[in-house]
Amino acid sequence: MPAEKCTFSLVVPVYNEGPNIGPFYERVARVMQGLGEPYEIIFVNDGSQDDTLDRLLSLAGKDPRVKVIDLSRNFGKEIALTAGIDHATGEAVIPIDADLQDPPELIPELVAKWREGYDVVYATRREREGESWLKRATAHLFYRVVEKITPIKIPRDTGDFRLMSRPVVEALKRLRERNRFMKGLFAWVGFKQTAVYYRRERRHAGKTKWNYWKLWNFALEGITSFSYIPLQFATYFGLTVALFAFIYALFIVVRTLLFGRDVPGYPSLITVILFLGGVQLFAIGILGEYIGRIYSEVKQRPLYIVKGRYGFHRIREAQRSEGHNRTAKKIGSLSG
Ligand code: UDP
Ligand code: MG
Repeated sequence: MPAEKCTFSLVVPVYNEGPNIGPFYERVARVMQGLGEPYEIIFVNDGSQDDTLDRLLSLAGKDPRVKVIDLSRNFGKEIALTAGIDHATGEAVIPIDADLQDPPELIPELVAKWREGYDVVYATRREREGESWLKRATAHLFYRVVEKITPIKIPRDTGDFRLMSRPVVEALKRLRERNRFMKGLFAWVGFKQTAVYYRRERRHAGKTKWNYWKLWNFALEGITSFSYIPLQFATYFGLTVALFAFIYALFIVVRTLLFGRDVPGYPSLITVILFLGGVQLFAIGILGEYIGRIYSEVKQRPLYIVKGRYGFHRIREAQRSEGHNRTAKKIGSLSG
């Protein structure tokens, strides 16, 4: 049975969001029913350890528009999102977080812009609630830096919450890189884009999965995926230091010729050696960032592994998973 076509596909990556699933579904269903067109909600369970999957499956049992992709482990939000987008059949695809930080009530506005002829309508936060000033300041800095050193234009204060038309989704699906910085990829594909503004609310329940170390790595990902400037930095910095060293050497030679030898000089020597050592390690580190990414790219591993798909081909699915595991039992009730 081929998957039925629908107008809207919501793609929801979920990782340990148990308490949020119910309220999220309620709010989304209300908004989507208001739009009065066929839709699907694709949940991607990103290796949750709580009762998220059970809750998703019981939803899927009640509502045929709910589909669940169960990944084999936690792959991270970017990959989970990719898996969902790969499976979406809608004319418009809308990634949205499960913690209700992206208000579903904004979807009709996104849709209206899409109807006006835009291919990408992204939701830009005007305010952020429940986030510390440090988080806001670092986020601000990040968008600034990325804007300066990458050739593509990533809209500021914009997450993954957006609407994409089918042509954009097809373009996006062709970008199979392993190091996925979705915001950058969204921007890279181009097309006619516009923004809709909203207030970012607090998480409904649970904690953010981000910490500063993860955010730092995320920022590195964003920069190295779209810019070679850090690599060039080593070149120019090296050149500058070499130039100064050359001038200083001339100065020493001339001074020695004019005033004779002068042996003491340990402090300046050790300073220069340590400084250059530091610069060299730093430059090697930058190389390493890129080489590591090349390495993960050449291995050509699949982006994600799917453990189970529920609600896609409803009848076949139920037969395949017959009597295998805990989740298979649940599906029994699904197939009815
Ligand atoms: N998420 C995921 N895999 C992860 C981390 C997060 O699928 O490894 C999901 C999470 O369940 C949520 C969304 O990505 O639906 C956004 O996560 P979070 O709220 O932690 O990020 P923030 O809103 O703080 O940027
Ligand atoms: Mg969140």
